[in-house]
Amino acid sequence: MAQEQISAIVIGGGITGLSTAYRLRQEAEERDIPLKITLLEASNNVGGVLQTEHRDGFILEHGPDAFITTKPWGKALCEELCISDKLIGTNPRVRRSFVVRKGKMLPVPEGFYMMAPGSFGPFIRSPIFSLWGKFRIALDLFIPRRSDTGDESVANFVRRRLGKQAFERMAQPMIGGIYTSDAENLSLNATFPRFLDMEQEHGSIIKALLAQKRKAAQTSRDTSRHTSGARYSLFQSFTAGMQTLTDTLADRLSDCIRLQKRVNTIQQGESDVGWIVCLDDGEELEAELVCIALPAHHTAKLLSTVSPTLAEKLSAVPYKSSITVNLAFRREDVLHPLNGMGFVVPITEGLNIVGCSFSSVKFENRAPTDHVLLRAFVGENAYIIDEGTDTDKLVAAVLKEVTELLGIRNDPIFSVVSKHSEAMAQYLVGHKKVISDIEHLVENFSGLALAGNAYHGIGIPDCINSGQQAALKLLKTL
Ligand SMILES: Cc1cc2nc3c(=O)[nH]c(=O)nc-3n(C[C@H](O)[C@H](O)[C@H](O)COP(=O)(O)OP(=O)(O)OC[C@H]3O[C@@H](n4cnc5c(N)ncnc54)[C@H](O)[C@@H]3O)c2cc1C
Repeated sequence: MAQEQISAIVIGGGITGLSTAYRLRQEAEERDIPLKITLLEASNNVGGVLQTEHRDGFILEHGPDAFITTKPWGKALCEELCISDKLIGTNPRVRRSFVVRKGKMLPVPEGFYMMAPGSFGPFIRSPIFSLWGKFRIALDLFIPRRSDTGDESVANFVRRRLGKQAFERMAQPMIGGIYTSDAENLSLNATFPRFLDMEQEHGSIIKALLAQKRKAAQTSRDTSRHTSGARYSLFQSFTAGMQTLTDTLADRLSDCIRLQKRVNTIQQGESDVGWIVCLDDGEELEAELVCIALPAHHTAKLLSTVSPTLAEKLSAVPYKSSITVNLAFRREDVLHPLNGMGFVVPITEGLNIVGCSFSSVKFENRAPTDHVLLRAFVGENAYIIDEGTDTDKLVAAVLKEVTELLGIRNDPIFSVVSKHSEAMAQYLVGHKKVISDIEHLVENFSGLALAGNAYHGIGIPDCINSGQQAALKLLKTL
């Protein structure tokens, strides 16, 4: 006798929802489960914040421009999808970045990793820190490890171990660039647990970085020795841009994706078995399995009648907005040599932009010959946001700042502004406890899973993993 068909609904067509639906399909096929998968996406295309645009020979990223390979789930998915040959690494010839200090672009010293030096020569010679600042950073070698293992903010951790200058001039802009957030409230153990381990294992961040460097030199002579700032060679994109990943997933799932289907709420079915998914257009769909793959504030809204307590916990994960501004120039119009991946801007500089990638230097083929593509980031705290974020004003403000820093002597060929409203989850101090509470509450609802960037990491590999784990969890309930 044929097995009865089981319905699974995935809500949200960003990288998380696509990864969930893909894993559901693969597992169901492998285990011979008659699963009907439907992916509901509110907008008229999938990918969420991950969108690439091809324009006049330029490849523009509206959202993410790369993913890290130290977290294995991104690369593993590419291998499974047979698109590894389309991956490209960052430009090996320019493995450094700049940090703005008093309106000037200064190179991040070689070997400096986010908040601390892993190499002494370049650090000592760097004009980023004063003599006192350098001395205070070096005190990390002697400051005892913290005995209290409770969570603390990234800002507190850096100031405690390495001092105010290390925080204000390096850690804050580096971290602000990744999380579009204020490091004063960011949880260390939810965002950079590695630094916590370094302190616990080595009693010093500098000692830990030096040990890491020795180990790296033993295993592979030298790739890490000439890097500065983030470990660029570990970031990857695709020849045709990041959307290659979501387009490939969408192709594989084309029969189950339904666009322009915004979910309004979900309810438990009759006698609490299964789920009813209610759409904005009045349609109602029934399913045994539901994965909500949305930012936490959207998830909270969908679950507000099913569990007000769960909805309240989800709302406790704040989100921040950000804007990217792609700027295309003729090469001759930019005076700076662009001999790096880009720059970050400390809050203390008082600018609108928090950073800028030299996109066409960072990855090849992002701009036609004799042209360059820059991509500036504007955070939620920028003063221009208060002015109503009128696009022309925004571009003008960004251009003014980029022009002063890079010596630009002509208008861009074009500019493209992408606004990402409340897209970036903020992992505040105590985040892990909030997530553990959420996960306990979800356990009470059979056939329900939550996934996305609110829980165990905001990066693309984290979102892929989150979606895949949600799929496996749902199939376990069958
Ligand atoms: C500007 C920016 C740059 C970033 N850069 C990087 C980077 O370089 N590397 C990196 O690893 N990470 C980066 N990130 C983080 C990473 O891209 C995101 O965390 C990740 O893409 C989030 O994916 P998601 O699917 O969870 O959410 P989203 O991409 O937000 O997708 C959610 C989807 O759900 C849909 N939706 C919303 N509400 C409903 C509803 N009610 N019903 C149905 N559908 C709905 C939306 O339309 C959207 O398509 C960046 C993020 C931003 C914003």
